[in-house]
Order: sequence, then C-alpha cells, then structure tokens
Amino acid sequence: MSAPGPSVALSLARERRPAAASSADASHYVNVWREPEALGAERVDAFVLILRTRGCYWADAKGCTMCGYARDTLGRSATEEEIGRQVAAALHRYRGEPYVKIYTSGSFLDPREVPPKARSTVVRAFAGPARRLLLESLPEFAQVEDLRALREELGAELEVALGLESTQPEVLSRAVHKHEPPSEYFAAAARVRESGARPKAYLLLKPPYLTEREAIEDTVRSIREAQPHFDTLSVNPVHIQGGTVVEHLYRRGLYRPPWLWSLVEVLRRGRASLGEGKRLVSFPTSGGNRRGVHNCLSCDAGILHAIEEASLSQDFSALDTLPACACQGPWARVNALEALAPEA
Ligand code: SF4
Ligand SMILES: [Zn+2]
Repeated sequence: MSAPGPSVALSLARERRPAAASSADASHYVNVWREPEALGAERVDAFVLILRTRGCYWADAKGCTMCGYARDTLGRSATEEEIGRQVAAALHRYRGEPYVKIYTSGSFLDPREVPPKARSTVVRAFAGPARRLLLESLPEFAQVEDLRALREELGAELEVALGLESTQPEVLSRAVHKHEPPSEYFAAAARVRESGARPKAYLLLKPPYLTEREAIEDTVRSIREAQPHFDTLSVNPVHIQGGTVVEHLYRRGLYRPPWLWSLVEVLRRGRASLGEGKRLVSFPTSGGNRRGVHNCLSCDAGILHAIEEASLSQDFSALDTLPACACQGPWARVNALEALAPEA
C-alpha cells in the first residue's frame, strides 16, 4: 500500500495539538496507575505517572504515524513550579512501589518538556523507595552527563527507554515517520550505558503500509539486531490512537491492528535470538480490543495472559502450547494472501 501524502500527517499534527493550557490545568498530571512488573526474577508493582508537559516536539513537526499522545499535552511548556505541583499531587497516590515509570508523552530529557531543575524534583521525589526509575527519551536528549547526574540524585537504577521501533531505516522513516535512523538510537543506548543507566528499546509491531507477514519479519529482525545494544526489548503492537495517520487509514478500511497470533510468533522467535541476561517483554495497550492487537476476540484473553506471564517470568514455554483456535486459519490465510496482492 502506498502512504498518503505528507499533508495528511502534517494536518493531523496541527489538529491534535491542544490550545495553551491554563496554569490550573498545568498543575494536574495526566494519569497514575499501578501495574505488575519484574525486577530481575522478583515480581513487583510498578507506579506509573504521566506528567503533563508540552509533549514531543516531533509530534508538532510531523509526528509518528501511530502516536496520538500530543492530545495529553499542555500546548506550551510547563514551568518548574507546575511540574512540582504535578509531582506533589502524584505522591499522594504513591505507596512506595519499587519500580517507578515516568512518562511525559514525549522526552523527559527535552528541556522544553521538563525544565532541568524540575527533572531533579521528579527524581528526588522517588529517591529512597524506588529501586528503579524509568524515563523515556528521543535519542538526541540522552546525554551522559545529564543521565549521570540524575542517577546520582536517584541513588538507584535509572532505566532509559528509547523508541527505536524498527532497526530497518526504511521502515523507520517511511512507515513510522521517525526522523532519526536506527544508528542514532544505538549511539544513544551506548551513552545511556556509559552513564551507568540501563537502556531499554521499544519495538513496534505492524506500523502501517506493511503486510502482516512483513510486520512479523520486521519485528523479529529488529529484536535480533537491537538486542546487543539494549538490556530490555519491549514489543509494542500498534493500537489505534486518536488523531493519527494510523487512525486515518483504519477508518478507511486500510489498516488492521496486528493479530495476537503474530505477536505470539514474534515473541517465540525473538526469544530464541536473545543473548544471556536480555529481557523480552510485551504488555500490549488495548490488547483484545478491535483497536488493539487482537484475534477473534474469544481466544484473546487467554493468550494475553500467557504473554504477560512470559514477560514477567521470562519463561516463554507456555507460548509453545497455547490452545488452538479456529481463527488461526484466517490468520494464516491473511499471511499467505497479502503477499500475493498487487501493489495498490
Ligand atoms: S512516538 Fe515518540 S517520537 Fe514519535 S511522535 Fe510520539 S512521542 Fe514523539
Ligand atoms: Zn481465536
């Protein structure tokens, strides 16, 4: 399938950005929740906090085809005081969970999103109980000195997640619309490691314009090629977010989120290519729903449970013995027939 012209991506980027928020709105975080996680072999609870910031600058310029997080942003930069108020409010919900994940709908390390002094406020708020704190960044903002300083203030493990998505430059630029090649993500992972922090990669399953089979092969290959650079690889199947190119295609019948059987195949084959001590995980958003990774919707819950258990335990053997379902036939036919379809 050929991609819609850049004007679709650009006009969607303009439409989804909110107007500049008031100071009262900027004092509220987007969301907090708890979720199961693992620190090594130990199961723990993770505390997740989404801060409201100006969001990702790339989402303004063009944005990635699947990303609608700009809708959760302020439409302007937050001040240090506003970030401080968001953190103070979030601390009322914090119960000392040992794993803390801080999201900003962009890059925590971009000073336009989180002013440098506010970074310290965030990290120090969780110093003590947190044994690991995760933040996300585009590669250009992951610099050794900044990360080293944060790690020292935290006094615990710092984990930096980079949205690599695919190790194939063509897929990254044309299907995902990232503006930097995979080599920049590998270089950033090396800087993260040099700072003493842990690099984690997000890999996307089924960006638009790929067939189901091409998407599976792309993610399997990306796991194999990315794993020397990262400690953890997280496979994120595309789900349909509002205000995105993916939603634009979905509404026109030109995109289906990946099949859960595809994710199972990716994890089984990807696991086999992993080096010692590397982790492979997947915690799909909207799994088992029509707008997320799904099969026939009747076998989905059991498969999603097996994937979560495998992600937490790193024992993937249950994925080899999943109960069969009649929807494996249609999935296999999609894989076979899409390859025969003429180019649109
Ligand atoms: S996926 Fe990441 S880089 Fe792409 S627009 Fe969203 S926040 Fe920005
Ligand atoms: Zn099924």
